[in-house]
Amino acid sequence: MNRRRRIYEGKAKILYEGPEPGTLIQHFKDDATAFNAKKHEIIEGKGVLNNRISEYLFKRLGEIGVPTHFIKRLNMREQLIREVEIIPVEVVVRNVAAGSIAKRLGLEEGAPLPRSIIEFYYKSDELDDPMVSEEHITAFGWANPQEIDEMMALALRVNDFLSGLFLGIGIRLIDFKIEFGRQYENDMMRIVLADEISPDSCRLWDAKTDKKLDKDRFRRDLGGLVEAYQEVARRLGILMENKPSESKGPRLVSSNKP
Ligand code: UDP
Repeated sequence: MNRRRRIYEGKAKILYEGPEPGTLIQHFKDDATAFNAKKHEIIEGKGVLNNRISEYLFKRLGEIGVPTHFIKRLNMREQLIREVEIIPVEVVVRNVAAGSIAKRLGLEEGAPLPRSIIEFYYKSDELDDPMVSEEHITAFGWANPQEIDEMMALALRVNDFLSGLFLGIGIRLIDFKIEFGRQYENDMMRIVLADEISPDSCRLWDAKTDKKLDKDRFRRDLGGLVEAYQEVARRLGILMENKPSESKGPRLVSSNKP
């Protein structure tokens, strides 16, 4: 691993210099953190699963025309990505009340929201990622109004597409967090989807049983995190029993409640 220059190390990923200018290697670690890293554990196999799941979702999103930083998966834990300038704003989309919105607004977990809601958080570990408004984002120059519009439009497209994709395999997309970056090419700049989309950054509930198939298993000490992520991968068709490298596409699952 030390043959490459390490550009950045985060809680669950490392970025290395890529083979060509303008590229990076994104390495998925097994580290699980929550509550701004106050809770930390190594969960063997998590990084491999997130690499595969995120690869799958970024590819499908790319196919419907959502621009992303993803180029290709390199190995079990790494993917080649385009280097972007990360916009320091986490974009959260919510369909159903859970987590911080349930607590903050006194909503029951699992209550459907009147419509999908987009929230912004300023990316800052020291400040615990505070929630911010468009006013803060533009006033402090983190993104301009046009970039905010672009991020919101892309976030809604990602939400619609992923909600449908997951429902088709018997999973409800409760909420998720995404990040965007600026990709510079010649004199052009475009906003692209960056970072990852995985059960670390989404809430995914089984459509029949409401079983949590995401990082809440770690946050809430429910156990069985790797098994839950494996279940998501298996339903997406990217993890066949005994044949981890074979891909057959998502398996349709009836979403009818019993
Ligand atoms: N999320 C994330 N990274 C963060 C904060 C939130 O990936 O730093 C995801 C989280 O997994 C969930 C959604 O964003 O799918 C909304 O999270 P919430 O605001 O409810 O915060 P939480 O209670 O999970 O800390």
